[in-house]
Amino acid sequence: MAADNIEQRRSGKKKASDAAYRAANKAKIKAYRAAHYAANRERLLAEMAAYAAANREKIAKTKAVYRVANREKVYAGERAWRQAHNSETAAYNVAYRAANRERMNAQCRAYYAAHRQTIIAYIAAWKASNRDHVVSQFKAHRAANKEKFRTWRRNYRSRRANAEGRCSPEEIAGLYDRQNGMCAYCDATIRHEWEADHVVPLSRGGSNWIANIVLACPACNRSKGSRLLEEWQGRREAQRKK
Ligand SMILES: [Zn+2]
Repeated sequence: MAADNIEQRRSGKKKASDAAYRAANKAKIKAYRAAHYAANRERLLAEMAAYAAANREKIAKTKAVYRVANREKVYAGERAWRQAHNSETAAYNVAYRAANRERMNAQCRAYYAAHRQTIIAYIAAWKASNRDHVVSQFKAHRAANKEKFRTWRRNYRSRRANAEGRCSPEEIAGLYDRQNGMCAYCDATIRHEWEADHVVPLSRGGSNWIANIVLACPACNRSKGSRLLEEWQGRREAQRKK
């Protein structure tokens, strides 16, 4: 017991004097270490690599524990590093994603399949608590992709009406050119606004293929409604005679 106490006191004293020495000779120690490292670089690196290889799991565990205990510090450090290496990491990420696209896609799909309900609930909750942001984002997106949205809505309506056929924004643009930017029925300009009219209405068995579509001014489109062309022409004539 007594011997142990003496040992402890001695080692305590030794520690204290070591610390004092280190504090007083910081620069000297640093220079010594640097020189030692430079002179033994290859050997030290090999030793470190060997140690790392032999203690992979232990090191990973230590790192994980440290990360959890020092989360904020670790994140801040990583953020700073990313900011300092922004262009390199961006290029690296692009290259990595390109080289591992299939694997990453498969991973994403598997993750989604395994967590589908959670993900859907999470997105719904996020949208609910960020409603203004979601709405304004959607409106901006719709404004920037007007033609796509109109095509999409038309296709959606025709699917709902069980009509067959789909047409693309490119086909609609071609139609606009062929009609010289004028309503197919009344020669009014449709430069500012137009609607796609199904010549044979969807509700009467018409399709959503481009062959069944003309561009009309909103007034004509609304007036024609779900009539066949013959029925509507007659009505227009009748209105004119009144
Ligand atoms: Zn018209």
